[in-house]
Amino acid sequence: QAHLDRIAAVDGDVHAFLHVSDTALQAAADIDRRRAAGESLGELAGVPLAVKDVLVTTDMPSTSGSKILEGYMSPYDATVVARSRAAGLIPLGKTNMDEFAMGSSTEHSAYGPTRNPWDLDRIPGGSGGGSAAAVAAFEAPLALGSDTGGSIRQPAHVTGTVGMKPTYGGVSRYGAIALASSLDQVGPVSRTVLDSALLHDVIGGHDPNDATSLTDRWPSFAAAAREGASGQVLKGLKVGVIRELPDSGFQAGVSASFRAALATMEAQGAEIVEISAPHFEYGVAAYYLILPAEASSNLAKFDSVRFGLRVDVPGGTVEDVMAATRDAGFGDEVKRRVILGTYALSAGYYDAYYGSAQKVRTLIQRDFDTAFAQVDVIATPSAPTTAFRLGEKIDDPLQMYLNDVTTIPVNLAGVPGISIPSGLAAEDGLPVGIQFIAPAREDARLYRVGAAVE
Ligand code: GLN
Repeated sequence: QAHLDRIAAVDGDVHAFLHVSDTALQAAADIDRRRAAGESLGELAGVPLAVKDVLVTTDMPSTSGSKILEGYMSPYDATVVARSRAAGLIPLGKTNMDEFAMGSSTEHSAYGPTRNPWDLDRIPGGSGGGSAAAVAAFEAPLALGSDTGGSIRQPAHVTGTVGMKPTYGGVSRYGAIALASSLDQVGPVSRTVLDSALLHDVIGGHDPNDATSLTDRWPSFAAAAREGASGQVLKGLKVGVIRELPDSGFQAGVSASFRAALATMEAQGAEIVEISAPHFEYGVAAYYLILPAEASSNLAKFDSVRFGLRVDVPGGTVEDVMAATRDAGFGDEVKRRVILGTYALSAGYYDAYYGSAQKVRTLIQRDFDTAFAQVDVIATPSAPTTAFRLGEKIDDPLQMYLNDVTTIPVNLAGVPGISIPSGLAAEDGLPVGIQFIAPAREDARLYRVGAAVE
């Protein structure tokens, strides 16, 4: 009830939610009843959970921020939602996002932008700006996001929250409306590292419904976070800093906060090691070929027949109906990427664009392999600037894309990355995050280190 009251009070301004559940109180009462009956429930039982609208739910519409799916009701729950419900978490509502998770500001939502609770004239990051803003504005204690190139971590950075992108395959993508299937991962958003770890424990692990789901047995992430918070884990920890990452392009306050965080870690016994990752900076270029290619294929299913919107064209052919539907149902950024992706995949261009991008992806993966032979984690600023103003980059796709310069390589390599708050930038008083990256399957290491640093 407290969270519903908070939503009623502030969401008119913040617009983190596209839909608020009308069964949350009932679900809460049910948890109370089970607890009173002596049932032993998990640590998160009864905790409200904001759910990014990219995740399908049976009891609330799932639009992925697009008009083409307006009012769409899924016949099943995403695995992460089903597991959350089974653990007693209470889905509170669906959060706003850039259409089909394409964007870094939530301004590409077909349902209007979300605003950053720190300053309502500024963006909450994207594409998961709704989930991050809901947590930052105390409308929800926990949220689920999805991260294809930074959509959990960059919103966390600009809203002073924690956001974790798990190892690729660590969390099921079943029921996450696909953007780019080789990059997408679902993960937690929270106000503390432990909270994210607790949610990750609930949603993670093998799912036979996701063909890329890892069959690993994962350690307890909450235990890792608790160990990090209590202890000595920074002593002797080798933290890699990327030599090739230029200082230019990073806002002064972001760089200053990053350096201060490293100095604090060093004072607690960590060793800062310069590493070389020469291909890191080409991540954005490779990503904007690979992502549109995969997205153009994934979005082909919105064909006016199988899902959502249909615009009838009297006397028209099937193709006319399809074209009219996609024209009316997709926003500009989606169309831009579908066109780019279709072009990159077309005969004659495939090798030059998509093929080259895949090679760059491999080089980035090798950079990480080499680096992780020398260090335990890599640290970067989570994004180049603090929250920018609404409208500032909306007409300049390249500037928008460059927001993800430090987050995208992590998705390309399939390794885990976490953004945790590292203070406020001196020049504007807005939140800044530091990102830690670990080798694949070492998600627990990020919770240990993150909890030690926060
Ligand atoms: N901002 C990036 C993009 O626009 C990342 C999106 C995401 O992680 N879903 O593609």
